[in-house]
Order: sequence, then C-alpha cells, then structure tokens
Amino acid sequence: MKRIVAFTGAGISKASGIPTFQDMDGIREKLSLDYFMSDTKDFYDVLQGMKRNVDKALPNAAHIAIADHDIPVVTMNIDGLHKRAGSKKVIEVHGNLDYVFCMKCGKEYDFSCIDDSIYCAQCNGLLKPEVVLYGEMIAKYHEAISLISSADELLVVGTSFYTSTSSIMVEAAEAAGAKVTTINMDAETEVPGYLRRCIEGD
Ligand SMILES: [Zn+2]
Repeated sequence: MKRIVAFTGAGISKASGIPTFQDMDGIREKLSLDYFMSDTKDFYDVLQGMKRNVDKALPNAAHIAIADHDIPVVTMNIDGLHKRAGSKKVIEVHGNLDYVFCMKCGKEYDFSCIDDSIYCAQCNGLLKPEVVLYGEMIAKYHEAISLISSADELLVVGTSFYTSTSSIMVEAAEAAGAKVTTINMDAETEVPGYLRRCIEGD
C-alpha cells in the first residue's frame, strides 16, 4: 500500500480560526529567542493570547480527514489540533503550547502554570515554552526527516513556504523519491478529492 505522510502549516488551521503569522503583525519578532530573553513578560503575554485562541479552536475537516485516514503528520503548527483531531503520529517540529520547562533543572510543567509564575517552583529558574522560537533549531529534526523520507507521497498542506523548515522537508521527500503534492488555497494542483474539499471548505 502507498505510504502517505502529511506535512502541514498554518493554512490548515485557518478554518479553525487560528490566525496565521502573516495575519499577526510583528509576531515573528516577538516569538524570537532574543525577545524571550529580553522582554520575557511581554513575550508570555503574547503567548498566553495565542494559547487562549488555540484552546477555543476546534480541529476542522482537514485535521479530521488526516486523522481518519491514519496519515502520520509532521506539522509546523503549535496549536495541537492534529492531536485533538485524533492523529496518533504527530511530529511537532515547531513545538507546542502544552508545556513549559525550567531552563535550569529541566523540570516540565503544564503551560497553565505560567498564569502563576514564569519561574520554576523547584529551583527558581526561568521557564521556557516548548515552542521553537526564531533563532532556535527545529525540534525532532531527525525524526521528522526519517518519517518524511519513508513516504511514497508527501502531502504538503497549508504552508506558505516562508520558512526554511518547509523547504527542508520537501527537499527530503524529493531526495527520497516521494511524490510531493501541495495543497494550498491557491494551489492549482492535482490533489486527492477528499482532502481538497476539506482544505477549501464545503
Ligand atoms: Zn527548575
């Protein structure tokens, strides 16, 4: 059987009401390692706002179609919607908004503990979110490349190709001989009908 792997970006979550970074002015600067270190309080205000949006959102037909067809996913999204749609195999290369961890002792906390303090209850170290910030290496790189390289077909859904992560993943698939199918709002490509309908909505 043909092995399909999906690689998804912000476009897939747009129909769930999650704004893309293009829609959010200056967000890239604020989600940087520099900004986290220099203006931690405002950084967390921004992140808490994003977390509130994510918590309100629901997986849409596209997340659900991928989960229902048991397609493993590599995603650049931090919204957790693939997991909530029921996908079992999800590699979040840009991290998630589920946890924070102490930069000093490594202890992990639920993201919501930020409401009380941005410092570790155990050692008072600064807590850092599991989101991959601009200026940092992507997470689970090797795991993602190996999954993508195992595909006969890579479905690229809702990415703007703005980030280098996109080109790295697509190049890895091509190098491994996979067929790459791009599904974007404006793409005029041959795509499986069930997914196209999901992405484009009704
Ligand atoms: Zn600690």
